[in-house]
Amino acid sequence: MRKKTQLIHGGITGDEKTGAVSVPIYQVSTYEQDGVGQHKGYEYSRTGNPTRFALEELIKEIEGGYAGFAFGSGMAAITAVLMTYNQGDHVIFTDDVYGGTYRMISKVINRFGLESSFVDTSHVESIEAAITDRTRAIYVETPTNPLLKITDMKKVSDIAKDKGLSFIVDNTFSTPYWQNPIDFGADIVIHSATKYLGGHSDVVAGLVVVNSEQLAEDVHFVLNSTGGILGPQDSWLLMRGIKTLGIRMEEIETNTRDFVEFLQELPEVTNIYYPGLDSHKGHDIHKTQARGHGGMISFDVGSGEKADQVLRNVKYFTLAESLGAVESLISVPAKMTHASIPADRRRELGISDGLVRVSIGLEDIEDLKEDFLEALRK
Ligand SMILES: *Cc1c(COP(=O)(O)O)cnc(C)c1O
Repeated sequence: MRKKTQLIHGGITGDEKTGAVSVPIYQVSTYEQDGVGQHKGYEYSRTGNPTRFALEELIKEIEGGYAGFAFGSGMAAITAVLMTYNQGDHVIFTDDVYGGTYRMISKVINRFGLESSFVDTSHVESIEAAITDRTRAIYVETPTNPLLKITDMKKVSDIAKDKGLSFIVDNTFSTPYWQNPIDFGADIVIHSATKYLGGHSDVVAGLVVVNSEQLAEDVHFVLNSTGGILGPQDSWLLMRGIKTLGIRMEEIETNTRDFVEFLQELPEVTNIYYPGLDSHKGHDIHKTQARGHGGMISFDVGSGEKADQVLRNVKYFTLAESLGAVESLISVPAKMTHASIPADRRRELGISDGLVRVSIGLEDIEDLKEDFLEALRK
Protein backbone atom coordinates (compact mmCIF):
# COMPACT_ATOMS: atom_id res chain seq x y z
CA MET A 1 0.00 0.00 0.00
CA ARG A 2 1.38 3.39 -0.94
CA LYS A 3 1.58 6.23 1.61
CA LYS A 4 -1.51 8.25 0.64
CA THR A 5 -3.65 5.11 0.51
CA GLN A 6 -2.25 3.88 3.82
CA LEU A 7 -3.22 7.14 5.54
CA ILE A 8 -6.84 6.44 4.58
CA HIS A 9 -7.07 2.64 4.62
CA GLY A 10 -4.38 1.74 7.17
CA GLY A 11 -4.99 0.65 10.75
CA ILE A 12 -8.53 -0.28 11.68
CA THR A 13 -11.00 1.25 9.27
CA GLY A 14 -14.67 1.73 10.11
CA ASP A 15 -16.89 -0.51 12.18
CA GLU A 16 -17.59 -4.14 11.27
CA LYS A 17 -20.87 -4.32 13.18
CA THR A 18 -22.63 -1.44 11.46
CA GLY A 19 -20.59 -0.77 8.34
CA ALA A 20 -19.86 2.78 9.51
CA VAL A 21 -16.87 3.98 7.48
CA SER A 22 -15.48 6.01 10.36
CA VAL A 23 -14.22 4.37 13.58
CA PRO A 24 -16.82 4.99 16.33
CA ILE A 25 -15.91 7.14 19.31
CA TYR A 26 -16.02 4.66 22.21
CA GLN A 27 -16.79 7.14 24.98
CA VAL A 28 -16.44 4.54 27.71
CA SER A 29 -14.28 3.89 30.77
CA THR A 30 -15.01 0.24 31.62
CA TYR A 31 -16.13 -2.97 29.88
CA GLU A 32 -18.46 -5.73 31.08
CA GLN A 33 -16.75 -9.06 31.68
CA ASP A 34 -18.49 -12.42 31.02
CA GLY A 35 -16.73 -13.97 34.01
CA VAL A 36 -13.87 -12.82 36.19
CA GLY A 37 -10.96 -12.06 33.86
CA GLN A 38 -13.03 -13.04 30.77
CA HIS A 39 -13.24 -9.94 28.63
CA LYS A 40 -13.37 -9.11 24.94
CA GLY A 41 -9.94 -7.50 24.80
CA TYR A 42 -10.78 -4.38 26.82
CA GLU A 43 -11.02 -4.03 30.61
CA TYR A 44 -10.53 -0.38 31.43
CA SER A 45 -9.88 2.55 29.09
CA ARG A 46 -6.60 3.69 30.65
CA THR A 47 -5.18 0.29 29.66
CA GLY A 48 -6.87 0.24 26.26
CA ASN A 49 -9.77 1.86 24.40
CA PRO A 50 -11.00 0.77 20.94
CA THR A 51 -10.92 4.28 19.41
CA ARG A 52 -7.45 4.94 20.77
CA PHE A 53 -6.37 1.47 19.60
CA ALA A 54 -7.51 2.23 16.05
CA LEU A 55 -5.29 5.33 16.07
CA GLU A 56 -2.39 3.37 17.58
CA GLU A 57 -2.68 0.74 14.83
CA LEU A 58 -2.73 3.48 12.20
CA ILE A 59 0.41 5.28 13.42
CA LYS A 60 2.18 1.92 13.87
CA GLU A 61 1.51 1.10 10.21
CA ILE A 62 2.42 4.48 8.75
CA GLU A 63 5.73 4.56 10.66
CA GLY A 64 6.41 0.87 9.92
CA GLY A 65 6.84 -0.19 13.56
CA TYR A 66 5.82 -3.03 15.88
CA ALA A 67 3.33 -1.10 18.06
CA GLY A 68 1.94 2.40 18.55
CA PHE A 69 0.78 4.33 21.62
CA ALA A 70 -1.29 7.50 21.95
CA PHE A 71 -0.73 10.06 24.70
CA GLY A 72 -2.46 13.25 25.84
CA SER A 73 0.33 15.44 24.40
CA GLY A 74 3.73 15.23 22.75
CA MET A 75 5.32 15.98 26.13
CA ALA A 76 3.41 13.12 27.80
CA ALA A 77 4.69 10.81 25.03
CA ILE A 78 8.31 11.94 25.44
CA THR A 79 8.11 11.74 29.25
CA ALA A 80 6.70 8.19 29.08
CA VAL A 81 9.54 7.07 26.81
CA LEU A 82 12.15 8.52 29.20
CA MET A 83 10.39 6.88 32.16
CA THR A 84 11.29 3.48 30.73
CA TYR A 85 14.85 4.20 31.94
CA ASN A 86 16.25 3.92 35.46
CA GLN A 87 17.91 6.20 37.95
CA GLY A 88 21.54 6.71 36.90
CA ASP A 89 20.90 5.91 33.22
CA HIS A 90 22.27 8.43 30.75
CA VAL A 91 20.65 9.70 27.53
CA ILE A 92 22.31 11.82 24.81
CA PHE A 93 20.10 14.51 23.23
CA THR A 94 20.35 16.83 20.22
CA ASP A 95 21.52 20.16 21.69
CA ASP A 96 18.67 22.17 20.17
CA VAL A 97 15.84 19.82 21.16
CA TYR A 98 12.33 21.25 21.43
CA GLY A 99 12.26 23.71 24.36
CA GLY A 100 9.60 21.79 26.27
CA THR A 101 11.66 18.62 25.99
CA TYR A 102 14.72 20.47 27.34
CA ARG A 103 12.68 21.84 30.26
CA MET A 104 11.27 18.42 31.14
CA ILE A 105 14.70 16.77 31.01
CA SER A 106 16.53 19.50 32.94
CA LYS A 107 13.85 20.42 35.51
CA VAL A 108 11.61 17.38 36.00
CA ILE A 109 13.00 14.00 34.99
CA ASN A 110 16.51 14.94 36.21
CA ARG A 111 15.07 14.99 39.74
CA PHE A 112 14.53 11.25 39.42
CA GLY A 113 18.17 10.69 38.52
CA LEU A 114 18.12 10.39 34.73
CA GLU A 115 21.43 11.82 33.48
CA SER A 116 21.60 13.71 30.19
CA SER A 117 24.08 15.28 27.75
CA PHE A 118 23.26 17.71 24.98
CA VAL A 119 25.47 17.52 21.89
CA ASP A 120 25.39 18.69 18.28
CA THR A 121 24.12 15.42 16.79
CA SER A 122 24.71 16.73 13.26
CA HIS A 123 28.35 15.83 14.10
CA VAL A 124 28.24 12.12 14.89
CA GLU A 125 31.71 12.37 16.45
CA SER A 126 30.22 14.47 19.27
CA ILE A 127 27.76 11.67 19.98
CA GLU A 128 30.52 9.09 20.20
CA ALA A 129 32.50 11.34 22.53
CA ALA A 130 29.53 11.67 24.90
CA ILE A 131 28.83 7.94 25.31
CA THR A 132 29.59 6.56 28.79
CA ASP A 133 29.11 3.16 30.49
CA ARG A 134 25.72 4.31 31.66
CA THR A 135 24.41 5.62 28.31
CA ARG A 136 21.20 3.88 27.31
CA ALA A 137 19.84 5.93 24.41
CA ILE A 138 20.48 8.60 21.78
CA TYR A 139 17.60 11.01 21.18
CA VAL A 140 17.55 13.24 18.09
CA GLU A 141 15.37 15.64 16.17
CA THR A 142 16.02 16.05 12.45
CA PRO A 143 15.38 18.68 11.17
CA THR A 144 15.63 20.73 14.38
CA ASN A 145 13.88 23.86 15.53
CA PRO A 146 14.39 26.65 14.49
CA LEU A 147 17.58 26.24 12.39
CA LEU A 148 16.52 22.98 10.72
CA LYS A 149 19.81 21.21 11.43
CA ILE A 150 20.06 17.71 9.99
CA THR A 151 21.33 14.55 11.70
CA ASP A 152 22.40 11.50 9.70
CA MET A 153 20.04 8.85 11.09
CA LYS A 154 21.81 5.88 9.50
CA LYS A 155 25.14 6.87 11.04
CA VAL A 156 23.59 7.44 14.47
CA SER A 157 21.77 4.11 14.36
CA ASP A 158 25.02 2.35 13.46
CA ILE A 159 26.64 3.85 16.57
CA ALA A 160 23.59 2.95 18.67
CA LYS A 161 23.57 -0.66 17.46
CA ASP A 162 27.30 -0.99 17.95
CA LYS A 163 27.01 0.16 21.59
CA GLY A 164 23.67 -1.53 22.34
CA LEU A 165 21.76 1.74 22.80
CA SER A 166 18.22 2.68 21.80
CA PHE A 167 17.92 5.25 19.04
CA ILE A 168 14.98 7.62 19.52
CA VAL A 169 13.78 10.14 16.90
CA ASP A 170 11.27 12.96 17.42
CA ASN A 171 9.79 12.98 13.90
CA THR A 172 7.33 15.87 14.43
CA PHE A 173 8.83 18.24 11.83
CA SER A 174 9.05 15.80 8.92
CA THR A 175 5.92 13.71 9.64
CA PRO A 176 5.66 10.04 8.64
CA TYR A 177 4.53 11.19 5.20
CA TRP A 178 8.03 12.42 4.36
CA GLN A 179 10.31 10.55 6.74
CA ASN A 180 10.22 7.15 8.48
CA PRO A 181 13.11 6.90 10.98
CA ILE A 182 12.56 3.16 11.62
CA ASP A 183 13.71 2.55 8.01
CA PHE A 184 17.02 4.17 9.05
CA GLY A 185 17.46 2.12 12.20
CA ALA A 186 15.47 4.07 14.83
CA ASP A 187 14.00 2.00 17.67
CA ILE A 188 11.48 4.56 18.91
CA VAL A 189 9.72 7.32 16.96
CA ILE A 190 7.87 10.12 18.75
CA HIS A 191 5.40 12.68 17.40
CA SER A 192 3.81 15.78 18.76
CA ALA A 193 0.62 14.95 16.85
CA THR A 194 -0.58 18.42 17.84
CA LYS A 195 1.31 19.67 14.78
CA TYR A 196 1.05 18.22 11.23
CA LEU A 197 -0.70 14.94 12.11
CA GLY A 198 -3.70 16.71 13.66
CA GLY A 199 -3.06 19.57 11.29
CA HIS A 200 -5.94 21.88 12.18
CA SER A 201 -4.86 23.56 15.46
CA ASP A 202 -7.66 21.78 17.29
CA VAL A 203 -6.13 18.86 19.18
CA VAL A 204 -3.17 18.30 21.52
CA ALA A 205 -1.77 14.76 21.31
CA GLY A 206 1.40 12.68 21.27
CA LEU A 207 2.27 9.38 19.59
CA VAL A 208 5.00 6.80 20.10
CA VAL A 209 5.94 3.99 17.72
CA VAL A 210 8.39 1.27 18.77
CA ASN A 211 10.10 -1.40 16.68
CA SER A 212 10.13 -4.37 19.07
CA GLU A 213 7.94 -6.41 21.41
CA GLN A 214 10.18 -5.60 24.39
CA LEU A 215 9.98 -1.83 23.81
CA ALA A 216 6.20 -2.15 23.28
CA GLU A 217 5.89 -3.85 26.68
CA ASP A 218 8.07 -1.21 28.34
CA VAL A 219 6.19 1.77 26.88
CA HIS A 220 2.74 0.26 27.47
CA PHE A 221 3.70 -0.49 31.07
CA VAL A 222 4.54 3.18 31.67
CA LEU A 223 1.47 4.38 29.75
CA ASN A 224 -0.83 2.17 31.82
CA SER A 225 0.97 2.89 35.11
CA THR A 226 1.20 6.67 34.78
CA GLY A 227 -1.96 7.23 32.71
CA GLY A 228 -1.03 9.99 30.25
CA ILE A 229 -3.42 8.59 27.64
CA LEU A 230 -5.25 10.28 24.78
CA GLY A 231 -9.06 10.31 25.13
CA PRO A 232 -11.40 8.75 22.55
CA GLN A 233 -12.70 12.06 21.10
CA ASP A 234 -9.18 13.36 20.47
CA SER A 235 -8.09 9.96 19.10
CA TRP A 236 -10.92 10.21 16.58
CA LEU A 237 -10.03 13.81 15.65
CA LEU A 238 -6.44 12.76 15.08
CA MET A 239 -7.44 9.90 12.75
CA ARG A 240 -9.56 12.38 10.85
CA GLY A 241 -6.56 14.69 10.54
CA ILE A 242 -4.22 11.90 9.42
CA LYS A 243 -6.51 10.97 6.50
CA THR A 244 -5.56 14.25 4.77
CA LEU A 245 -1.91 14.32 5.84
CA GLY A 246 -0.68 13.35 2.36
CA ILE A 247 -2.56 15.99 0.44
CA ARG A 248 -1.73 18.64 3.05
CA MET A 249 1.99 17.85 3.04
CA GLU A 250 2.14 17.88 -0.78
CA GLU A 251 0.45 21.28 -0.95
CA ILE A 252 2.53 22.66 1.93
CA GLU A 253 5.66 21.45 0.08
CA THR A 254 4.71 23.40 -3.05
CA ASN A 255 3.73 26.49 -1.09
CA THR A 256 6.93 26.40 0.97
CA ARG A 257 9.24 26.08 -2.06
CA ASP A 258 7.44 28.97 -3.64
CA PHE A 259 7.78 31.10 -0.50
CA VAL A 260 11.50 30.31 -0.19
CA GLU A 261 12.08 31.44 -3.79
CA PHE A 262 10.21 34.63 -2.98
CA LEU A 263 12.31 35.23 0.15
CA GLN A 264 15.53 34.71 -1.84
CA GLU A 265 14.58 37.73 -3.98
CA LEU A 266 14.20 40.08 -0.99
CA PRO A 267 17.31 42.12 -0.12
CA GLU A 268 16.06 42.56 3.48
CA VAL A 269 16.08 38.81 4.09
CA THR A 270 19.30 36.87 4.83
CA ASN A 271 20.29 33.45 6.18
CA ILE A 272 17.39 31.37 4.92
CA TYR A 273 17.21 28.02 6.71
CA TYR A 274 15.24 25.44 4.71
CA PRO A 275 16.39 21.83 4.21
CA GLY A 276 15.24 21.93 0.56
CA LEU A 277 17.94 24.45 -0.42
CA ASP A 278 21.08 22.96 -2.00
CA SER A 279 23.08 25.39 0.13
CA HIS A 280 21.48 24.22 3.41
CA LYS A 281 23.94 22.42 5.65
CA GLY A 282 22.89 18.78 5.74
CA HIS A 283 20.77 19.05 2.58
CA ASP A 284 22.55 16.06 0.99
CA ILE A 285 21.95 13.88 4.04
CA HIS A 286 18.35 15.06 4.39
CA LYS A 287 17.66 14.08 0.77
CA THR A 288 18.74 10.50 1.49
CA GLN A 289 16.44 10.10 4.49
CA ALA A 290 13.38 12.26 3.72
CA ARG A 291 11.10 12.41 0.67
CA GLY A 292 10.11 16.03 1.27
CA HIS A 293 11.37 19.10 3.09
CA GLY A 294 8.33 20.17 5.11
CA GLY A 295 6.79 23.56 5.72
CA MET A 296 9.21 25.15 8.18
CA ILE A 297 11.46 28.06 7.17
CA SER A 298 13.60 30.32 9.37
CA PHE A 299 15.30 33.49 8.11
CA ASP A 300 16.78 36.75 9.31
CA VAL A 301 15.04 40.07 8.70
CA GLY A 302 17.93 42.11 10.15
CA SER A 303 16.91 43.10 13.66
CA GLY A 304 14.54 42.42 16.52
CA GLU A 305 12.66 45.65 15.71
CA LYS A 306 12.16 44.60 12.10
CA ALA A 307 10.94 41.18 13.21
CA ASP A 308 8.48 42.89 15.59
CA GLN A 309 7.23 45.09 12.76
CA VAL A 310 6.63 42.11 10.48
CA LEU A 311 4.83 40.12 13.14
CA ARG A 312 2.63 43.05 14.13
CA ASN A 313 1.56 43.78 10.57
CA VAL A 314 0.94 40.42 8.91
CA LYS A 315 -2.74 39.55 8.39
CA TYR A 316 -2.74 36.00 7.06
CA PHE A 317 0.19 34.67 9.08
CA THR A 318 -1.07 33.97 12.58
CA LEU A 319 1.32 35.16 15.30
CA ALA A 320 1.50 32.03 17.45
CA GLU A 321 3.70 29.26 18.77
CA SER A 322 3.12 25.79 17.32
CA LEU A 323 3.41 24.70 13.69
CA GLY A 324 2.04 22.31 11.13
CA ALA A 325 -1.45 23.75 10.83
CA VAL A 326 -3.68 24.65 7.87
CA GLU A 327 -3.10 28.28 8.93
CA SER A 328 0.35 29.73 8.28
CA LEU A 329 1.98 30.61 11.59
CA ILE A 330 4.78 33.08 12.31
CA SER A 331 7.01 33.52 15.37
CA VAL A 332 10.26 35.05 16.60
CA PRO A 333 12.22 32.28 18.35
CA ALA A 334 14.45 34.69 20.36
CA LYS A 335 11.40 36.24 22.05
CA MET A 336 9.06 33.25 22.08
CA THR A 337 10.07 29.58 21.94
CA HIS A 338 13.73 30.22 22.82
CA ALA A 339 13.35 33.20 25.19
CA SER A 340 14.46 31.12 28.19
CA ILE A 341 17.91 30.54 26.62
CA PRO A 342 20.45 33.24 27.68
CA ALA A 343 21.18 35.80 24.90
CA ASP A 344 24.86 34.76 24.58
CA ARG A 345 23.99 31.12 24.17
CA ARG A 346 21.25 32.03 21.67
CA ARG A 347 23.76 33.95 19.56
CA GLU A 348 26.19 31.01 19.76
CA LEU A 349 23.44 28.74 18.43
CA GLY A 350 22.68 31.19 15.59
CA ILE A 351 19.30 32.29 16.92
CA SER A 352 19.57 36.02 16.23
CA ASP A 353 17.02 38.62 17.40
CA GLY A 354 15.92 39.14 13.79
CA LEU A 355 15.32 35.46 13.14
CA VAL A 356 11.75 34.79 12.04
CA ARG A 357 10.25 31.30 11.82
CA VAL A 358 7.27 30.50 9.64
CA SER A 359 5.17 27.38 9.32
CA ILE A 360 3.64 27.53 5.86
CA GLY A 361 0.00 26.47 5.65
CA LEU A 362 -2.59 25.98 2.94
CA GLU A 363 -3.59 29.54 2.05
CA ASP A 364 -3.10 30.79 -1.52
CA ILE A 365 0.64 31.41 -1.65
CA GLU A 366 0.18 34.71 -3.55
CA ASP A 367 -1.78 36.08 -0.56
CA LEU A 368 0.96 34.98 1.82
CA LYS A 369 3.65 36.66 -0.29
CA GLU A 370 1.74 39.93 -0.61
CA ASP A 371 0.91 39.91 3.07
CA PHE A 372 4.54 39.33 4.11
CA LEU A 373 5.90 41.93 1.72
CA GLU A 374 3.46 44.62 2.94
CA ALA A 375 4.35 43.89 6.57
CA LEU A 376 8.09 43.94 5.80
CA ARG A 377 8.01 47.24 3.91
CA LYS A 378 5.43 49.11 5.96
C1 LIG B 1 5.40 20.72 19.93
C2 LIG B 1 6.53 19.79 19.99
C3 LIG B 1 6.68 18.89 21.07
C4 LIG B 1 5.73 18.88 22.25
O1 LIG B 1 4.46 18.43 21.90
P1 LIG B 1 3.10 18.90 22.61
O2 LIG B 1 2.06 18.19 21.83
O3 LIG B 1 3.03 20.39 22.53
O4 LIG B 1 3.17 18.44 24.02
C5 LIG B 1 7.74 18.00 21.02
N1 LIG B 1 8.62 18.00 20.00
C6 LIG B 1 8.52 18.85 18.97
C7 LIG B 1 9.53 18.81 17.87
C8 LIG B 1 7.48 19.78 18.93
O5 LIG B 1 7.40 20.65 17.90
